[in-house]
Formats: sequence, structure tokens, C-alpha cells
Amino acid sequence: MPDPASLPPFAAIVVAAGKGLRAGGDAPKQYRPWRGKPVLRHSVETLVDAGAEPLFIVVAPGAEEHARNALKGLDRCRFVEGGATRQASVRAGLEAIETASPEKVLIHDAARPELPSSVIERLLSALGDHPGAIPVLPVVDSLAVASVDDTMAKAADREKLRRVQTPQAFRYDAILAAHREWPGEADAGDDAQVLQRADRTVALVEGDERMKKITFASDFEDIATGVPPMRIGQGFDVHRLERGQELWLCGIKIDHEYGLSGHSDADVALHAITDAILGAIGAGDIGTHFPPSDPQWAGARSGRFLEHAVKLAGEAGYVVSNIDLTIICEAPKIGPYRPAMRHEVARLADVQENAVSIKATTTERLGFTGRGEGIAAQAVIALASIA
Ligand code: MG
Repeated sequence: MPDPASLPPFAAIVVAAGKGLRAGGDAPKQYRPWRGKPVLRHSVETLVDAGAEPLFIVVAPGAEEHARNALKGLDRCRFVEGGATRQASVRAGLEAIETASPEKVLIHDAARPELPSSVIERLLSALGDHPGAIPVLPVVDSLAVASVDDTMAKAADREKLRRVQTPQAFRYDAILAAHREWPGEADAGDDAQVLQRADRTVALVEGDERMKKITFASDFEDIATGVPPMRIGQGFDVHRLERGQELWLCGIKIDHEYGLSGHSDADVALHAITDAILGAIGAGDIGTHFPPSDPQWAGARSGRFLEHAVKLAGEAGYVVSNIDLTIICEAPKIGPYRPAMRHEVARLADVQENAVSIKATTTERLGFTGRGEGIAAQAVIALASIA
């Protein structure tokens, strides 16, 4: 990813208004998971990282909730409803960013999840000389023009032809004017066609084979075969009890004469749950992501660690299915705090409360927990594939 500071400022519109029925499935293809996250999310994350601002997602009427779920946590995204045709949808996006009056805008189709940042750079730089720039690829197969009876009418010259991809880049004023001039009832294959109809030049820059459009059900097959439907993880943690420390368990502050010591808030229960999630996706442990040697985690609320693990699980294509936690200590009594703990863990892990079990046990005064020297926690969690 190039440093966003090295790119000129640009706005972006991602068109996600299609019904995507050719790809099969219940949800439109742009909201279905592909390689661990919704199709739409892939390119939008790239655009966020590249500094696109404003960043508008054009959605079909009634589909904003789908899009918001697919893009959870990407706070920069804004949403606008599309129209009856692709052209009308893009125009709605262009009109929506008018108040920001950006100089340059990228227009991208959500059905192309992979968006190499090198292409973004090439497109934006071509706008120095032209009002429009599009990524293209050569045609490698030979071509035939078909007759109506499915015989070959003649050969076509592939040397003159290019395959056109998105994103397409434009000077904002030029593409907005071209869309406003476009005859309302007709659709356009893409925005380059709209700009060209307004007699403006469109530069051809090198595209990228990775920016393949997801079209058919077979494009989704790697989800069906590559990601198991569920995964399981376990986590275990211990912290020492000391006088004069705060006691935090499951994100709840507990009134007790002893508290747990550690680098963060030492919430042993949330640490066990976090490690269980990280374990399920094979992403190391809590110390890998939040090293105790890093001063920024001193006194940190451990809820942040859990939220981060849940986010990583989402990126790997999973949501938390259920959590089963056991807290092992002689004191304090966990029962009175259990409802609040359950509520808080469910909130942090983004699950219903009935998917969270919090149990407590003593060790019959045996061992370090029995002597009140520390508290231990162990958690088992199941993750379910989003696919
Ligand atoms: Mg710990």
C-alpha cells in the first residue's frame, strides 16, 4: 500500500446497487463472503487505506442495512441510494459528493474485490493529462464476430481491443457534467462511455488481472471448499491478586479488597476469551498483538483486546458463535456480578447474551487459587463461518 500522503486527494464512489443474481445465493453477491469477508468490504478497505474522502457507497433501495453490516467499523463510508440503471446509480453518487467538490473521483464496482493500490496510483496520475482514465487489459484470445445463427461472421482484430476494468478515474467536474448530459432512459456500460459521449478523452492505463469481476457462482467456490464452517479455540490465563489493585473481571469493576496485577487492567477473564478467539483463527495470542513491553497498553481496558480479536476473526470470515467461560477463584463471589458480566462480554464479542456462559468455581482451597494468591480463567469458544 502506498503511503496515502503520496497520493493526491481523491473521492471515491463504490457502486453496490446491483442485484447480482447470476452469482446465485440469497444475498446480492456484493454482500456475500469471499476470502473471509464480504465482497464489497475488500475494495472499500483498500480505498479507505488509500485515503479516499469522501467515500460513498451506492446501494439499492432498502439495502443500506446490508451494506452497513458488511462495512462495520469503516466509519468513513457514507451511503446513497442508487437508481434504476447503473448510470443513474453512479450519478446519484456523484450528486451526493457535490458539496465536497473533489477534484478527482474514482468510480468502482463492488463486484471487483481486489483493487491493487498500484492501479489507483496509475489512474490518478493519468488525470494530470486527461479528464478520464481507465484500467484496461489486452485481449489474449483470438476473437470471432458471431452471426445470429451462431456461425462465425468474421474475425475481429484483437490488437485494437481492450478489456475494461474498474475503478475508473475522472476529474470530478467533467464526469459530473457528462452524467448530467446523459440521456436519462439509456444505461451505460461504464463511466468511460459516459465521458466519451461528452467528447472528452479517456486515457487507457494498464489494468491488473487481479481486478477480476465476480460474476458466477463458481467464483465463490473457494469459500465453500477453503473455509471450515466452524472453528474452536481455548484460552487460559492467570493473574496475581494484590492489595491496592482494582479488580476487573469480564469488563466489570468488582468491589473487593484485592485486585489483579498485570500490565493492562489484568482482566483475566477477558484475556482468556481473547486468547480463545485468537487461537481459533490461528492468530497467535494476546501478547503477540498487545505486547506487555509496549507502554501504550499499560492500564488498558482489556475490552479493546477482545474487540480486536473479534475483528480479526471477522476478517478471517468468522463470527463468534458462543463463549463458555470459567472463572476459578475462592473470592470474590461471581454470582452477583454475572448478569452484568454476561451483558458486557456479549456486547464486546457482538453476540446475544444467550451465547455467553459465565461459570465460576473454587478449587476447594487447594493450590494458588485456593490460597487466594491469584485468579485463573479458562474459556472455550466456537466461531461460525460467515459463508
Ligand atoms: Mg493476562
